Amino acid sequence: MLEQRPLVGWSQASSSPEILETIRKTRVSAWRWTMALSLVFPLGFLVAGLLSDEMPLGEGLIIGTVLGLFMFMLGVWRLRNAKKPGWEGVVIKKLEKKRHRRDDDGFDRSYMEYIVLIKTDQGKKKRIIERKQGALMYHYFKVGDRVRYHPALETYEKYDKSKDRVIYCNVCRTMNPLANDRCEKCNNLLFK
Ligand SMILES: [Zn+2]
Repeated sequence: MLEQRPLVGWSQASSSPEILETIRKTRVSAWRWTMALSLVFPLGFLVAGLLSDEMPLGEGLIIGTVLGLFMFMLGVWRLRNAKKPGWEGVVIKKLEKKRHRRDDDGFDRSYMEYIVLIKTDQGKKKRIIERKQGALMYHYFKVGDRVRYHPALETYEKYDKSKDRVIYCNVCRTMNPLANDRCEKCNNLLFK
């Protein structure tokens, strides 16, 4: 258990042995998923090619191998990103944008995009883009807030949590009352 948990400042939970172990387990399971998906596609198309008359074997093998390779590269890319150092910055702007997309049925559909614009200490611009109705980070952060990004968990932390009533779990993203020390859903330490 962490002794001091002030509400202003970066949490020490992110470097606690417990969270480091959670990160290690997350990586192991991400690797397993990557390997499983990389194999499922070639095998699935191999079986389809052998059993189905509509799918020629050679064609099935090519499609399956390409999809399997794509899954493998996607997995490796995500795992490499997770190893990158984190960054800190300040929220400089919040935007709501109406976007359009054309669906398969040919109809145009509009949806909202919620964007939090952050300027990092190195002067780079980062965006948190949310499309779901919840737009959790969009409502959680205000302009002027200091933010830290945790790449291994792909989640954000707010420097000053003293005015908040809620906190989002940095492991599973569930909203918790700020008074909690651990997440109600996954029981990991909350970053405070
Ligand atoms: Zn959680």
